[in-house]
Amino acid sequence: NPLMQRQGEEVLHLLLEHGHQAFFVGGCVRDELMGRPVHDMDIATSAKPEEVISIFPRTVPTGLQHGTVTVLMDTYSYEVTTFRKESEYEDHRRPSNVQFVEGIVQDLQRRDFTMNAIACNIKGELTDPYGGHQDIANGIIRCVGKAEDRFDEDALRMMRAVRFASVFAFRPVKSLWSALIKDRDKLSYIAMERIRAELERMIMGPHPLRGLEILRRSRLLDFAKAPIPNQEDIKQVYLLGLEKVSSESPELRWSLLLQGLGMHGEETLTMMRDWTFSNVIMQTTSDLIHFDEAWRQMVLTTSQSQEIDGLRRGWITLELRYGKAAAANWLIRQDVLNPLMNEEELIRLQPLEWKWHHDMILYHISDLAASGGDVISFLGRKGGPWLGHLMKNLLMCVAYGDLPNEKEAILDHAKVVVNSQNES
Ligand code: ATP
Ligand code: MG
Repeated sequence: NPLMQRQGEEVLHLLLEHGHQAFFVGGCVRDELMGRPVHDMDIATSAKPEEVISIFPRTVPTGLQHGTVTVLMDTYSYEVTTFRKESEYEDHRRPSNVQFVEGIVQDLQRRDFTMNAIACNIKGELTDPYGGHQDIANGIIRCVGKAEDRFDEDALRMMRAVRFASVFAFRPVKSLWSALIKDRDKLSYIAMERIRAELERMIMGPHPLRGLEILRRSRLLDFAKAPIPNQEDIKQVYLLGLEKVSSESPELRWSLLLQGLGMHGEETLTMMRDWTFSNVIMQTTSDLIHFDEAWRQMVLTTSQSQEIDGLRRGWITLELRYGKAAAANWLIRQDVLNPLMNEEELIRLQPLEWKWHHDMILYHISDLAASGGDVISFLGRKGGPWLGHLMKNLLMCVAYGDLPNEKEAILDHAKVVVNSQNES
C-alpha cells in the first residue's frame, strides 16, 4: 500500500528532522519481507512520548505507560513507540510499566521472535541483529534469546508462536518446541480473552490444522484457565473440513473445530462463554452444531426412500427451530464436508436439502398473513396461552405447504383446529 508507506515515511522524516532516531519495526517489516500485505505500520523511535506529541499536530496517547503514541496522518495512523525494554515481568505476563533505552538494538531485544525483531530505516536498510530475515527465508520461528526464559517471562508468547507457525506455515525450531513443553503450564496466568484472540487468528488463518497439530502435541491448551473438555472423540472429517471452509462466516470454522474435537451441542455454549466468545458467534455456532446433530439424527432414523416427505417436514421443522442462517450455513458447510465423507456418513439428500431451504416461505409468526389479533377477533375468544400454541401450529402448516399464506385460509384453519380441540 503505497499511500500507507508514504505517510509512514513522512512520520519517520519528521522524527529524524527533529534529531531523533526512527525505524519501521515488527509486523510490517516482517510482512514486507515475506511479500504479504501489510495491514499497519509500527514505528520505534528514540523520541520520548511527550516529544512525539509535540512534533505531530494530531496524536492520541494510546499507551503512555508503554511509551506508545498514535500519530494520525492524512489517512493512516501509526503507533509510535519509544525504544524500551521490559524487565520486571509479573506473574508471567508483560509488565504494565517499562524503561526506555537508548538504541534500536536494545529495543529489538525485548521482542518475541527473530522475524518480529527486524527494524527498517527510511532508506530501506535493515537492522536485523538476530537473523530474522534468514529465519523468514527458512520458514523458521525462533525466539529472541533463550526460548525458555522468554516464555517464562510472558506465557502469551507460546500462543503467539503457535499462531505464527500456523498462519505462516512456519516450523518452530527445536529449542522453541522444548521450551513450549517446559513452560506450557504458565499459560494458566494468561487471560482467556488473549488466548482466544490468538486462537481466533489461527483458526481463521490459511492453515489451522498446522496450529492444531502443535496444540495437540504440546497439550498447551490443557493449561489454559478454561481448557477445552474431552478431546478423546476426535472427528477427523470435521477437522479436515475446517481448512477448506471459508473463514468469512467464522461460525463455519468454529463449529467444525468444536465438533471435530468431539464436542456436542449442549456443551458448546458453556465452553464458548468460558472462552470469552462474543454472544453473536456463540449463538450462531451453537445453532449450527445443534442443527447438524438434529438433522443427522433425523436422517439416520428415517428410512429415506419411503419417508421423503417426512424428511422434508423434518428439515422445515429444524430450519424454523434453529433459523435460516443455521440452515444456510449447514448447507455451505456440508458442500465442503461431503467429498471428505465415506459412503456410510454421506448425506445423500443434498439437492433436496438446498431445494427445501430455498422453498422456505416464512420463518416467524409475524410473517403469517393473519396476525394473533386477527385470529382473536375472528374466533371471538379472549387471548391466552392457547393463542401462542395455535399461531405456532398455523406457522408450521404454512411452512410445510399444507396451507397457503392467505388470511382467509389461515383463519378458517384456525377455526377447524380450535373446534377439534374443543371436541377432544
Ligand atoms: P500482527 O499484527 O500481524 O499480528 P505483529 O508482529 O505486528 O503481527 P503485534 O501484536 O501487532 O504483532 O505486535 C507488534 C510487535 O510487538 C511484534 O512484531 C513484536 O515485535 C512485539 N510484540 C508483540 N507482542 C509481544 C510479546 N508478547 N512479547 C514480545 N514482543 C511482542
Ligand atoms: Mg501489528
